[in-house]
Amino acid sequence: MLRLSPLPALADNYIWLLADPGLATALAVDPGEAAPVLQALAAQELTLTAILLTHHHPDHIGGTGELLARFPDARVYAPEDDRIPHAHRRVHDGERIAIESPAAQFQVIAVPGHTRTHVAYHGEGLLFCGDTLFSLGCGRLFEGTPAQMLSSLDRLASLPEDTRVCCGHEYTLANAAFAQRIEPHNEALRMRQQQARTLRDAGEPTLPSLLVDERAANPFLRVDVLSVDAMAAPPELLTEGAWLSDRVARFAALRAAKDGFRA
Ligand SMILES: [Zn+2]
Repeated sequence: MLRLSPLPALADNYIWLLADPGLATALAVDPGEAAPVLQALAAQELTLTAILLTHHHPDHIGGTGELLARFPDARVYAPEDDRIPHAHRRVHDGERIAIESPAAQFQVIAVPGHTRTHVAYHGEGLLFCGDTLFSLGCGRLFEGTPAQMLSSLDRLASLPEDTRVCCGHEYTLANAAFAQRIEPHNEALRMRQQQARTLRDAGEPTLPSLLVDERAANPFLRVDVLSVDAMAAPPELLTEGAWLSDRVARFAALRAAKDGFRA
């Protein structure tokens, strides 16, 4: 039985730890710093056997070297990108990777948009999606086009609805404020926002979330089903009071509106 833990790191990152308590082994996803991982491994008496990296940003890979110094046998999986050092295995779209211990298999999904080589790992009912999909939001477009990011999100949204979404940051409440502006009458969104508030007030992570809930409330997964509320919508999303008709244009406008949004 695998045990999943989000380890808060840096300002608002999560490093994901997936452990097999029986075998006393664990893998870590996107260790932006080493300390929280080393602390969790020590507390749970685990050996680190693998590190999965989603993209090259320092807040996702910064702790890798230090973890390898402590666990030299750990294998590092990363996308093809010179900006990511320490990789033992470069992963590509559609590839399956099998970790022996903890016993876990993942499919690699290329998700360009936030960065051009960003990948996600899907398996064991989990999706490690870095900075591509957030709860109620999505990553900024640093290196990709809106069309690329939308197609990446389309792929993630088509995974099984009970997939647990393990994102790279605790952004849910800030994202909820923007999502409310887009869909003020979305009941699923209102409930998710309330649940996230309760969790944060108790000092708990709002993640992982369920993919089915993201489909119901995350505006970036809803460009095809958003309903018009011209009073509430940012004007850049509308032409003559109607949503932009092209879905890529709608996504691009949505992303641009979020970039400029202050709650
Ligand atoms: Zn990033």
